[in-house]
Amino acid sequence: MQKIGIYGGTFNPVHLGHISLAKRFRKALGLDTVFLVPTATPPHKVHKDLAGGDERYEMCKLAVEGEEGLDVSDVELIRGGKSYTVDTLLEFHRRYPDSALYLITGADMFLTLEQWYRFGDIAHLAVLCAAPRDEDSAEDLYRYADRLRAVYGAQTAVVNFPLLPISSTLVRDRLRAGEPVDDLVPQAVKQYICERKLYQ
Ligand code: ATP
Ligand code: MG
Repeated sequence: MQKIGIYGGTFNPVHLGHISLAKRFRKALGLDTVFLVPTATPPHKVHKDLAGGDERYEMCKLAVEGEEGLDVSDVELIRGGKSYTVDTLLEFHRRYPDSALYLITGADMFLTLEQWYRFGDIAHLAVLCAAPRDEDSAEDLYRYADRLRAVYGAQTAVVNFPLLPISSTLVRDRLRAGEPVDDLVPQAVKQYICERKLYQ
């Protein structure tokens, strides 16, 4: 049976923390493919400087180029409107009927899962996977995963990877300040940002 990772996010822009997390989960859980899935309108946050969906998608494409087993899906961008993860999981089940789905999240997102639209369904559509984003969050993740298993019958996978202290916010802040971002994003993404003068 195929194992597919679904890694949603704003990816505004995609950075090395995202790519590293996707690769590590792929290896740790033996996933065939991990799809980065850029959101259309992010339900959890609204940014003044949110790049267009096509631009965020293009940067994800550049970031996964040459990375084995990483891909990008435009399901949420094509669907438009608010992006609900439950719809995305249902769509992936339609496209890959005999596959197991793994929903990949960083700690900040994982700890809000119960507030997501139709979480009860999400819990049965995918294995819920999480990794910490800072030193403190690992214990919270294990505790929260216990709760999701007990209350919802969810399957969970918490993996304690070494962290890359990178966020898209940091990338945007650096760009606005005219500082280099070479250590934060893949070269091709940096080039794209410069050419399009994004976040400046
Ligand atoms: P922003 O600063 O704009 O919120 P972000 O870096 O948090 O951007 P998102 O697109 O919001 O990126 O996040 C997508 C997913 O990636 C979320 O599940 C988030 O927790 C996770 N994530 C982002 N950066 C990291 C990182 N450095 N390590 C682990 N997980 C991360
Ligand atoms: Mg975020």
